[in-house]
Amino acid sequence: MQGGIGDWITRRAHRRPHAPALIDGDSGRTVSYVDLERDVAAMAASLHELGVRRGDRIAILMENSIDFVYVLFGAANLGAIVVPINFRLSGREVRHILADSGALVLAVSDRFRDLATDALAQGEHGVRRILVETDGAAIGDHPVSTLGELLTAEARRGPDPLIRAEDTCVIMYTSGTTGTPKGAMLTHGNMQWNAFNMATVGSGLSSSTATIAVAPMFHIGALGLSVLPILYAGGTVITVRAFDPHRTLELMQRYRTTTQFMVPAMWAALSKVPDFDSYDVSTMQYVLCGGAPCPLPVIEFYQQRGWMFLEGFGMTEASPNTLLLDEESVVSHAGSVGRPFMHVDVRIVDNEDHDVAVGEVGELVLRGPNIFAGYWGRPVETAEATRGGWFHTGDLGRADAEGFITLVDRKKDMIISGGENVYPIEVEQVLYRHPAVSEVAVIGVPDEKWGETVVAVVVLGDGNNDIDEAGLIDYTRSRIAHFKCPRRVVFVDELPYTATGKLLKRTLRERFTGVGATVHR
Ligand code: ATP
Ligand code: MG
Repeated sequence: MQGGIGDWITRRAHRRPHAPALIDGDSGRTVSYVDLERDVAAMAASLHELGVRRGDRIAILMENSIDFVYVLFGAANLGAIVVPINFRLSGREVRHILADSGALVLAVSDRFRDLATDALAQGEHGVRRILVETDGAAIGDHPVSTLGELLTAEARRGPDPLIRAEDTCVIMYTSGTTGTPKGAMLTHGNMQWNAFNMATVGSGLSSSTATIAVAPMFHIGALGLSVLPILYAGGTVITVRAFDPHRTLELMQRYRTTTQFMVPAMWAALSKVPDFDSYDVSTMQYVLCGGAPCPLPVIEFYQQRGWMFLEGFGMTEASPNTLLLDEESVVSHAGSVGRPFMHVDVRIVDNEDHDVAVGEVGELVLRGPNIFAGYWGRPVETAEATRGGWFHTGDLGRADAEGFITLVDRKKDMIISGGENVYPIEVEQVLYRHPAVSEVAVIGVPDEKWGETVVAVVVLGDGNNDIDEAGLIDYTRSRIAHFKCPRRVVFVDELPYTATGKLLKRTLRERFTGVGATVHR
């Protein structure tokens, strides 16, 4: 018995040893709590034999799988720290995270061997040992162990250090939307309180809760909504390596799942499965959507079928759950991201950290036991982000009299033109209604006269080449205040996105800094 998230498994294994903890949705293999406890102990003992100690970092470059969970808990039981890596990154970006986190061990699934080989060849890093799923070609010139080998250490017992709530459990890198991804140190205590927060949602969590971990576990969304709280409650997590809408419905039916978290694009794709209504998913009690705003028709699709569809707002630094739009409010307050979770304090403040009035726009700041311990190796950024004891999210929003919060935009994306604040999302929403516009990003570029000037970067839909810059500017002028309207429109073939699908406005700002010189007044 040692504290931390590992304790959850030990205690569950004592209470209901044969209850299913993990099911591999691809192969059907089931791991009970007693199996999980034994395998995690073996994993911890083997990692210790390989030289992993308290505080060491173990990077994971794997799809969702039972093995991913073994490495996570094996490391946790040693007081070591897991660094999940986004497998959609380039080799160069993966190398950056390996070096930045100082990972000693890298666990790689078969699919990402080439990516790992590429990453390790890109330059300096501290990786000394590779863990692989199956034997195969070498990855660089590092010693390799298979994960299976590490699990056969049954007779061995590793050390049993006491894990404290303030010990870091995971270093989770942010998406890198507003800058270089930062490693958020999430502690065992953060994970515990995030699980408590989750237990207050919908019909709650219990040992009969079952869900599919569909979103990738390198993101806090899946770990913090689909994996850890469920295992805390003694429920069942079904892992899948990739998202497939049909397959998701099949698994929901087969395993009689009771809850589900997915991002809006996944919920939209699931609703488009032609024979959706032929699946028996009547065991579903409530579902969660988050990470980005969910279109209303998608919410309505599920509500029409009697689903309790809840919307959440969160971020890596909050483990991630922060705000929730509950069942009663999901339609009446559509467009809002809801109110704080049970154990989260939220304020909306101005640039001097004073509370703004109801209805006024300010920055969301957070406090609570789910808020991270700081950015790994970045004391200056940590102090800046957590000044006054509140985590500054960088998200702008406003609250109504009942405390429902509506997001306005990211602070770094806000444009100040001629002393007026322009929120790009508002301008983008207008342009999106123009039939020729397929994608749009509105940014501010430096301007001598106005400080910044509003520029729209537009991708036209197929066969829509007859609209020009002046036409689109006129379109916005009849719909929103003139100071908000773009003074330049530039047409591009595609917009840049992060590996997790978030629009990279900082890249656009760099690229189009010069265009403000010839503006339409
Ligand atoms: P970085 O911090 O590196 O710039 P990021 O902020 O995109 O990247 P994440 O922690 O993955 O990294 O994302 C959190 C952000 O996602 C929030 O700060 C918010 O801007 C956005 N977000 C999360 N949930 C929602 C939601 N329901 N609706 C709209 N935006 C959301
Ligand atoms: Mg962020």
